[in-house]
Amino acid sequence: MDSFRAWTEIDLDALAQNLRSVCQRAGPGVRVMLVVKQDAYGHGAVAIAHHARRCGIDALGVGSSQEALELRQAGLQAPILILGTVVEEELPACLRHDIHVGVHAVDRCRSLQKLARTMGVQAHVHLNVDTGMGRLGISPSLALDLLREVHGASHLQLAGLMTHLSAPEGGHCPSSHEQLALFNRLVAEARAEGLPCGWIHSLNSAGLFTNLGATAGMDSGSQMVRVGIAAYGALPRHLMPPDGLHQIMSLRSRIVFLKDVPVDTPVGYGSLWRAPRPTRIATLPIGYGHGLPRNLQGWDVLIGGRRAPLVGRLSMDYATVDVGHLEGVRVGQDVTLLGRDGDEELRLEDLAHSLGTIPHELSCSLGRLPRVFVGGAEPFIPAQSPPREPVKLPLAPSYPVSPPGPPTTSQL
Ligand SMILES: *Cc1c(COP(=O)(O)O)cnc(C)c1O
Repeated sequence: MDSFRAWTEIDLDALAQNLRSVCQRAGPGVRVMLVVKQDAYGHGAVAIAHHARRCGIDALGVGSSQEALELRQAGLQAPILILGTVVEEELPACLRHDIHVGVHAVDRCRSLQKLARTMGVQAHVHLNVDTGMGRLGISPSLALDLLREVHGASHLQLAGLMTHLSAPEGGHCPSSHEQLALFNRLVAEARAEGLPCGWIHSLNSAGLFTNLGATAGMDSGSQMVRVGIAAYGALPRHLMPPDGLHQIMSLRSRIVFLKDVPVDTPVGYGSLWRAPRPTRIATLPIGYGHGLPRNLQGWDVLIGGRRAPLVGRLSMDYATVDVGHLEGVRVGQDVTLLGRDGDEELRLEDLAHSLGTIPHELSCSLGRLPRVFVGGAEPFIPAQSPPREPVKLPLAPSYPVSPPGPPTTSQL
């Protein structure tokens, strides 16, 4: 990419392959919601969501009404759920654009019913049950009452019943099984009372990829999974090897300066690194201001398919690499910090692991860089990340509003 100093490259064909693996793992008839909150974890929500829809994904999960409206404005007609909750002021826009919202308490249920009635619309709601996350959601002992209340409200449509697992280890942690047992009991009670539950959804990537499908009742119909990081091909390291998943984000920069230095030359702030021998230092125009963590150390980059170590402390705008052992390195040459170059691949989950974090956090931080999309039916190449200003929408939607009721099952 000629004009960029540092950029991410997003491979839409790899996304499609990952979505296929997710659907296979979820099993036939299970719906898939792709989670695209925080600009699709830094991968670019609009392009990712469009391509996922082209691949047959049923629904999209976002973090806020603003994210939901950005997708609507970009022409996405899929069911969109705000995964957490909304502040009261976000509700009118959600209802106007048929965005599904979570309900966690009776008072929200009542205010939604009132608003939906005034606006003359049906509000699609997902009842969120707190089975152990302790963050949002109604406690299981009160959930049936709330479910009855939703069913009794003329302008509320129950689109789903959900819970969220707290263990990053998914099925490797006993608490996940306990959470699902609580949730399953509730579903069974609701069904025994004849209360429809809509889509039933509990599993995230960790749950799905640690074989919690059967425990979550994936074979019992009306099930959905909510998958984020697996679709982006970077399952955390503590999970099983990512069989059939491909990292879709690469991180690249280029050499802007080369300098031959004598032994013992200090490099970077604090002179934390000194040349152990006469060597050659390549400077890259990427730093912690672009989303790399400042304490990044001991990471190799790829130059012409060969490894070279980052040395010295990362600056806000620059990084330095010891390339003394490489022949033919030149200014202007591309450098891969994550992703493939030749036979080598640098993985997001490995970098995240070495920094004591998870791939979700790292890809979000890198989301501020310019982005190039490759692959996909229609390559999509915006020069910059999507704008961060609030989206202003016309009062009436300019796209066809999706009809109420469940979407069609995904066919990949
Ligand atoms: C973010 C999120 C997910 C997706 O989690 P991954 O680990 O990326 O699969 C699922 N459900 C909820 C409620 C979330 O907030």
